[in-house]
Amino acid sequence: MVRVRFAPSPTGNLHIGGARTALFNWLYAKSQGGKFILRIEDTDTLRSKKEYLEEILFSLKWLGLDWDEIYYQSERFNIYKEYAEKLLSQGKAYKADKLTAETGEEQVSAPGEAHPKGEGQAIILKVLPGKVQIEDMIRGGIEFDTSVIKDQVLIKSDGSPTYNFACVVDDSLMNLTHIIRGDDHISNTPKQILLYRALGLAIPKFAHLPLILAKEGGRLSKRKGATAISEYRDMGYLAKSLVNFLMLLGWSPGENREILDINEAVKLFDIHHINKTAAILDMDKLSWLNNQYLKNEDPQKLVDALVPELAARNWIAKDNFDRNYLLSLVKLLQARLTVLSDFFERADFFFLDDFPVDPKAVEKFLSRDLSREFLLFSERLEKLEKFEVPEIEETFRQLVAELAIEAKALIHPIRVALTGKTVGPGLFELICCLGKIRTKKRLAKWIKKES
Ligand code: GLU
Repeated sequence: MVRVRFAPSPTGNLHIGGARTALFNWLYAKSQGGKFILRIEDTDTLRSKKEYLEEILFSLKWLGLDWDEIYYQSERFNIYKEYAEKLLSQGKAYKADKLTAETGEEQVSAPGEAHPKGEGQAIILKVLPGKVQIEDMIRGGIEFDTSVIKDQVLIKSDGSPTYNFACVVDDSLMNLTHIIRGDDHISNTPKQILLYRALGLAIPKFAHLPLILAKEGGRLSKRKGATAISEYRDMGYLAKSLVNFLMLLGWSPGENREILDINEAVKLFDIHHINKTAAILDMDKLSWLNNQYLKNEDPQKLVDALVPELAARNWIAKDNFDRNYLLSLVKLLQARLTVLSDFFERADFFFLDDFPVDPKAVEKFLSRDLSREFLLFSERLEKLEKFEVPEIEETFRQLVAELAIEAKALIHPIRVALTGKTVGPGLFELICCLGKIRTKKRLAKWIKKES
């Protein structure tokens, strides 16, 4: 049975790259009827933080990437020790007092960190020159020359295992069949294969996912898209558009399809069809996808998602608001939102009498005196018995015909008077949602009283 894992270190939040690795492992497991295992690589007790762990678990769940089993490496130090001692007793590893630069291991104690007396000795694997070959499921055959690989620290002098050693012991003990991870780990793979060989363990299959590059070029960085999944959530991106976005980072379902949900992806997923070339992180694409999903989302769900923030802003009362009214606003605006949080900016005038007004819009559309036109429109709206979109539109059309002016000469000024903005939903729809009383009140502000 296929068993794959995602192995995050809780030394930071879950970012795009990690989430993509998790998703591809999950997709592979589901598409093969296998198991998806989560392994928390928390061997670095100083840098591992509970809040990062919680954020990672929360984000995975939010994305819908549920796991079948979970393990914590910090609970398994004895096991690593045991395996290292086995290698010692077989003469494949040796002990050393001090970690030297020659060991070439990234995760040795940081320079400057004292090496307290009484600490144990490090256990180090002897690396023999030779060749290592793998048949990567994505990249094809890769050959490594081990003469460039230095002796490998297995257990550091503080008793903690190195990443490569704990990873191999666990990948083997957890019966993982396929190791799917980012291309940035490719240089670890030959080191790990040497460890499998030394321990006499079966070697799993490897698949290295293409790098994700920033659109501006270069690796992702804090400035260039390396944003935590939870931040995307806070910005208003939907889990399903992020999942859709992530799956397109290196994979394509074919037939130029771009929009597909996670269940369809399970059916179509083929690890051999993952690209070898780097994927480009295109935020415009995420925004486009999110808009597509928002457009088609059940408006009731969007109402639920908006209520807490609306209440926090005091735009509605938490336990006493007009749900149907919110629903009509969501229906009016959902097709225009990039992220859900755009709603607050687009819809402020529905909640606030003292809404923000764009001064440029006023200058452009309301500097001319429109008292007469506004007054006539206001009076005719007042008379409407049925305050619905067709009636409002009809009233407006008749008025501009009578006044012999172009519709747009009045549409833009009215919109600015009612919303403070130059863009927004259709004018008649928005007047209908705003209601007769508020519409009249806002128009009145721009009607000069001559008498
Ligand atoms: N903890 C490692 C990381 O977060 C896991 C690498 C691997 O998948 O082997 O990069």
